[in-house]
Amino acid sequence: MAEKYSLEILSRPDLFYQLINNMTDLVFLTKVNPDKSLSYVVLNEPAKDLYGLTNESFGKPIQEVLPKNAYDIVKRKYHEAMEKKKPIKYEDMVRVSNPPQNSKNEVIYWESTITPVFNQDGECTHLLAIVRNLTEQREKENEIQRIKERLELVWNSVADVMFTFDKNENIVSVNRAFEKLLGWSAEELAKDKSISIIPEEDREDIRKIIDRVKSGETVTSHEVKRITKSGEVIYFLGSFSPLYAQNGNWDGGVVAYKDITERKKYEDKLKELALHDPLTGFPNRTYFSQCLKIEMEKAKRTKMLLSVFALDIDHFKEINDTYGHDIGDEVLKEFAKRVKSSIRKNDFLARIGGDEFVILIPELTEKTMVIEIADRIHKSLRDEWIIANEKVKITSSIGISLYNQLDTEEKTLFKNADLALYEAKKKGRNNYQIYNNPKTG
Ligand code: GH3
Ligand code: MG
Repeated sequence: MAEKYSLEILSRPDLFYQLINNMTDLVFLTKVNPDKSLSYVVLNEPAKDLYGLTNESFGKPIQEVLPKNAYDIVKRKYHEAMEKKKPIKYEDMVRVSNPPQNSKNEVIYWESTITPVFNQDGECTHLLAIVRNLTEQREKENEIQRIKERLELVWNSVADVMFTFDKNENIVSVNRAFEKLLGWSAEELAKDKSISIIPEEDREDIRKIIDRVKSGETVTSHEVKRITKSGEVIYFLGSFSPLYAQNGNWDGGVVAYKDITERKKYEDKLKELALHDPLTGFPNRTYFSQCLKIEMEKAKRTKMLLSVFALDIDHFKEINDTYGHDIGDEVLKEFAKRVKSSIRKNDFLARIGGDEFVILIPELTEKTMVIEIADRIHKSLRDEWIIANEKVKITSSIGISLYNQLDTEEKTLFKNADLALYEAKKKGRNNYQIYNNPKTG
């Protein structure tokens, strides 16, 4: 059958030429003459177009019809195919001033396959060269390469930390800012999949984010904490976007982290300023109110006793008047220090006004413990006071209230302590009074 077809095509040269002229590949059939010179016997139209060959070119030695540089390559490759006795393939890039067909390119990439044809005696009689124009493909590859290089430049130039992770949640690639800020190099991360930049307490949060990204969501402006190689904590504003494989399946994600540590520190500072008294550094009234609320709820649940002490320095105005405001300030600081050292670590001391302080005492086991605490405070104030070389005498009145299940408002607990303080002042100062709750006795 095959022979029949081949015979038919041989008897129909018009069909044969039509066929090869319609090919986009260039076809060159070269004859090896007895004197070893080479001459073309079949050329399709695209092949003729390339070198401006005509029917006159047939039969002539190819060095007479080809440009010198083209001939040098062709000759070398033809001989290689003849020596190897098998088809060879090679690629070359040719700069042309007259681009073929409607190609706008001045550089043409060719892929040539040269097949030697042998007779029964093993002599090479012909060489068939099929030459394919790879320019479009190469141009596309070059364009992709250019895009890749540009993306890489952007990837490594941005100040934000960026990285990608795969569907197994391993970090795949990181940018330069990642290496700079977090300290881990791309190689280290590739080698050791167990390296993590996520603190223990943030693991649950990242789990939720990855689940959202998996379902196709882009999570933006999400505040996270991450740890550097040296153990330092950095605050970031993170954006997480899903990545997909060619088949459309989820394939991990790309993450961008903006460093907000400075802003965070500033915010923390502001928070601290808003909740602390600048003179003594102790918590202020706002902070105290927040704490009181929390502790009251806790006391309600645990049925533990909770107490509030209201303290006010006796005749503090006289200190200011006698020694000046600056010494008055020093007295306030020392007073806070002494009171603080008389209470437990968990007790909460705050300065709520000029010479007024409060203490929140949670988890008391017995009512009588408040007396011990008040005594301890008074004792600490009895020790000698020397402020800026001035010997001063400082005492304080203390009002005490105890939380019971009927006092639902934190305001009441505080108010009752204040009423008891008023009583202590009335009773001659330098003493403590416990608020007597008429509801409970
Ligand atoms: P009492 O025994 O009744 O408490 O008499 P007192 O003189 O202490 O009177 P009061 O508690 O009413 O006065 C507190 C004074 O504290 C009034 C104010 O001039 C002074 N003061 C308020 N804030 C500051 C401060 O930041 N520094 C200094 N040095 N004095 C302050
Ligand atoms: Mg006072």
